[in-house]
Amino acid sequence: MIIITNPGITQDQLDHIREQVEARGMRTRITRGDKQTIIGCIGDDDVLREMALHRLPGVQSVVPVMKPYKLASRQFSACLTEVRVGDAPDQVIGGNAIAVIAGPCSVENRDMLRETALSVRDAGAIMLRGGAFKPRTSPYSFQGLREEGLRFLAEARATTGLPVVTEVMDPRDLPMIEKYADCLQVGTRNMHNFSLLKEVGRSSLPVLLKRGFSATIYDLIMSAEYILNEGNSNVILCERGIRTFDNSARYTLDLSAVPILKSKTHLPVIVDPTHALGLREFVPQMSLAAVAAGADALMIEVHDSPEQAKSDGNQALTPEIFAELVPRLRGVAAAIGREM
Ligand code: PEP
Ligand code: MN
Repeated sequence: MIIITNPGITQDQLDHIREQVEARGMRTRITRGDKQTIIGCIGDDDVLREMALHRLPGVQSVVPVMKPYKLASRQFSACLTEVRVGDAPDQVIGGNAIAVIAGPCSVENRDMLRETALSVRDAGAIMLRGGAFKPRTSPYSFQGLREEGLRFLAEARATTGLPVVTEVMDPRDLPMIEKYADCLQVGTRNMHNFSLLKEVGRSSLPVLLKRGFSATIYDLIMSAEYILNEGNSNVILCERGIRTFDNSARYTLDLSAVPILKSKTHLPVIVDPTHALGLREFVPQMSLAAVAAGADALMIEVHDSPEQAKSDGNQALTPEIFAELVPRLRGVAAAIGREM
């Protein structure tokens, strides 16, 4: 249930409504938009139906939320969520400006990370990505540098001013990762790991949640709901390709997920064209298409010598190709009335 309040509602009226709702065992979440304040109520809607809420001073209307997801639903929030990932004014995902997140698949060593971080920053990225804990198909493949990799990420942040996003696979690693990272990534293989989702939901860091490669859009929103339900309201949704009958690329990039997700939720939606295709040559075209489709940010893998990469070398852009791509993305952004 959501309570839409009168434009001129006073703080006392707002507090009174909230007290009334919470006294009946419901939880409330208040969001203030430019024109209106919305009180989202979570719990047993039948209790509220018996309350004649519409008679309380300051209430304009009471609307049931029919969807199984509440906190993630577009109805539930008076404004679109913008997730702050760093202190600089442009270090935000969501809003009118489109952001670019870039960096290597894995953190391999201090020098490569530093060089890549400097080049992606100079090309226009606002956040650095890099895995220190890698979810690999084979247990014999490079698994990441763990805490050493996190230290290199923090050093790269100090050098470049870029906030860092890195994957957490195991709730036991979370306290360590929180010491170094600015944003937590939950990867495609863990989108259904509900214990992990609850744990990152209790973190004070924003969460970049990737769509499971066999997950529906509904599944993705429900996973976001797990994180929001624990109190973390800074969730970024990421389309990164799904498994379909077609096998000409690694996955199929479902760009229709972008407008669909944006119609259903208030959360920022980003696209990772790199993992979707797994093929470097097509990453620029799909990045341009993702901007046109309305993505709030792109996440792109960049490696200074992809042929020597310890993971995902086939799909990483070189710093030069990345630097050529960014102005073209700006052109598409401008064409659809967005900044970059
Ligand atoms: C990644 O971004 O490093 C990654 C492993 O992506 P995904 O979970 O989408 O495969
Ligand atoms: Mn990768």
